Amino acid sequence: KGLPMPPEPDPTVKVVVRIRPVNEHEREGERTVKKLSSDTLSVGDRKFMFDSVLDSSSKQEDIFQLVGVPLVKDALAGYNTSILSYGQTGSGKTYTMWGPPSAMVEGQSTTSHLGIVPRIFQMLFAEIQKEQENFVGKQINYQCRCSFLEIYNEQIGDLLDPTQRNLEIKDDPKNGFYVENLTEEYVTSYEDVTQILIKGLSSRKVGATSINSKSSRSHVVFTCIIESWCKETSSKCFGSSKTSRISLVDLAGMERNKLDDAGILRVREGKNVKKSLSQLGLLVNVLAKGTQIERPKDIPYRSSSLTHMLRESLGGNAKLTVICAISPDSKSNGETLSTLRFGQRAK
Ligand code: ADP
Ligand code: MG
Repeated sequence: KGLPMPPEPDPTVKVVVRIRPVNEHEREGERTVKKLSSDTLSVGDRKFMFDSVLDSSSKQEDIFQLVGVPLVKDALAGYNTSILSYGQTGSGKTYTMWGPPSAMVEGQSTTSHLGIVPRIFQMLFAEIQKEQENFVGKQINYQCRCSFLEIYNEQIGDLLDPTQRNLEIKDDPKNGFYVENLTEEYVTSYEDVTQILIKGLSSRKVGATSINSKSSRSHVVFTCIIESWCKETSSKCFGSSKTSRISLVDLAGMERNKLDDAGILRVREGKNVKKSLSQLGLLVNVLAKGTQIERPKDIPYRSSSLTHMLRESLGGNAKLTVICAISPDSKSNGETLSTLRFGQRAK
């Protein structure tokens, strides 16, 4: 029923694999993960195909060109866009998303390590400025607001106001799901965004000092809502407005229950992470198939805080990129295979 959708130049769901470099505990000779071509890799004798595969030698700029540039274009065209960074602890999820906070401070020598998220906002504000300088016929106004939260053990905490530890998801008939009382800050420049990122990432770290592994058991979501409208009364577009959201998600480590630094088996945390990641897999799978969700009841997105709050971003006119972060080392083969399987389910 209904008309077939016109062909789209860009797929709704893209899956990109990034192999991190070997670290000081690993040896190049023990590498079992190999990139075979721009879109295939092998783990031992198993082969996998994705939209793109980035090898250990890839730079932050490479993944930005591959994933960030199309995201900014889609976001400005009115799509809801998301990136999910998926993989085991230590596979490079956080490095890929934010990079070291020091790289966001101006004049630092580490800017080449800048993650994909700050690069996205560098480009977004440059594009908005370009459009406003060279406008033809109509002038569009943009308003952007950001929030930054962490989901730990199903509880939503506000990274911009660490006193808010257990926020609730509400359903608004007009605007959909939102997190009640979550801090939202208006941003007009790259510098505004990096300040928020630095602040949020540091409150995450404070919370993680006693039990280091807490940071690998929590999902972190940075959201930017872009509203745009035409401000010229004489123009045809007067009165029309668009809202799109960018959701950038650094997921909890996908590995099974492990002892934390204090030697405690955190079973409950582990169960919550596992459940939310598998619900996320379901949601992503539905999006990838392009099937309209006819009976939302059938998709239990409300059963985890993560899928509940992302439901808005992953529904409707959405574009999603899954970055599967993997380690090159043979010791991680089990987690690597399971990460790649998650990526395949998104296709
Ligand atoms: P995760 O968030 O998946 O647990 P991290 O992003 O913290 O993993 O990465 C683990 C370590 O590996 C960090 O010290 C990080 O700086 C380093 N690392 C990860 N990916 C890369 C990369 N592509 N280039 C250089 N260092 C990396
Ligand atoms: Mg991390």
